[in-house]
Amino acid sequence: MTTANTTGPALLTDGFRAEATIDLAALRGNLASLRERTGGPALMAVVKADAYGHGAVQCAREAVAAGVTWLGTATPEEALALRAAGIGPDQARVLCWLWTPGGPWEQALRAELDVSVSGQWAMDELLAAVRATGISARVHLKADTGLGRNGCQPHDWPELVARARRAETEGLLKVVGIWSHFAAADEPGHPSVQAQLDSFAAALAQAEGGGLRPEVRHIANSPATLLLPQSHYDLVRTGLAMYGVSPVPEVGSPADFGLRPVMALTTRLALVKSVPGGHGVSYGHHYTTPGETTLGLVPVGYADGIPRHASSAGPVLVGGKWRTVAGRVAMDQFVVDLGGDTPEAGEEVLLFGNGERGEPTAEDWALAAGTIAYEIVTRIGSRVPRRYLGASWGQRP
Ligand SMILES: *Cc1c(COP(=O)(O)O)cnc(C)c1O
Repeated sequence: MTTANTTGPALLTDGFRAEATIDLAALRGNLASLRERTGGPALMAVVKADAYGHGAVQCAREAVAAGVTWLGTATPEEALALRAAGIGPDQARVLCWLWTPGGPWEQALRAELDVSVSGQWAMDELLAAVRATGISARVHLKADTGLGRNGCQPHDWPELVARARRAETEGLLKVVGIWSHFAAADEPGHPSVQAQLDSFAAALAQAEGGGLRPEVRHIANSPATLLLPQSHYDLVRTGLAMYGVSPVPEVGSPADFGLRPVMALTTRLALVKSVPGGHGVSYGHHYTTPGETTLGLVPVGYADGIPRHASSAGPVLVGGKWRTVAGRVAMDQFVVDLGGDTPEAGEEVLLFGNGERGEPTAEDWALAAGTIAYEIVTRIGSRVPRRYLGASWGQRP
């Protein structure tokens, strides 16, 4: 079986249908590059959503091995999974911010997680858990400085601050962080950015006026980390940039920011066949062969995270040439028109990677699907095995 790609040595493990390779050396390089770029502030490696599809435990371990002391997740379950994998409180603080009523507060306290509180119901549940366990909490109070999503509104902020301070003086918790999140840091010059910085400064002043002395004040995500040094404060929370994908493709490519894509998605042709002109292709026949040609069957589909919105648009590299999805992306497969070329079944198909073999990038797929590169990498499904390259920590996954 031919597995060699004309543009480089085989990426895909023999016999595999598809594989996402995760280049942990690139992840380390990105972390080093982000730290060099930001200088002072601590860096939080955001590993929510299975590290944007890259593997939360593996990426978190790699970040910790590279000296990162803060990890961030959305849900408490994601944070608990990191602790269960052996990433202890001596190695990294883990902040989780997306709580829902009835959440695992007591487990979070026992696991020494940092928790975010955005409102009174969360403070009620947290304090009940503190009393039940006898464990003092480490809390980050979240202000809504304009995103209009999670976080405490300015008119409720003084009361939340006052209650937190009372609990602090009673030894029930320590407010270690005051934080917020941007709405449009990826749109340089968007008026909301300065408004949020001003609102955050006001929230911080009120918190300090109320007696709180947070260790870390933080608001910057990846775009703000790259573009807005005035937002860095004590800590930056980087997700996408750490994975080597540009959060602001219209401003710069990953290379422009000193970043290298970490994930590459590779599959292999399942079938190559000749068809006459006028042949409909895939569900709904949204593509018809313009003349006699060859079709290649690519055995990944929307169940693997290939966006259906990339139908007739997504780019792939086959035999050194870019080809486009012909017709609909189906659940498990799609088709490309090979224009008369006759690679053998088994030929590698590169969907996206770091571009060094001439393959598309996650940004190219985002453009083709009318979405953002965050969604492209994060949605690569669990049916696609991950293979880790270049791990620095002892135990290989
Ligand atoms: C996802 C997330 C981040 C990381 O965002 P990136 O743009 O990927 O760096 C930071 N903070 C919060 C609250 C998030 O939800």
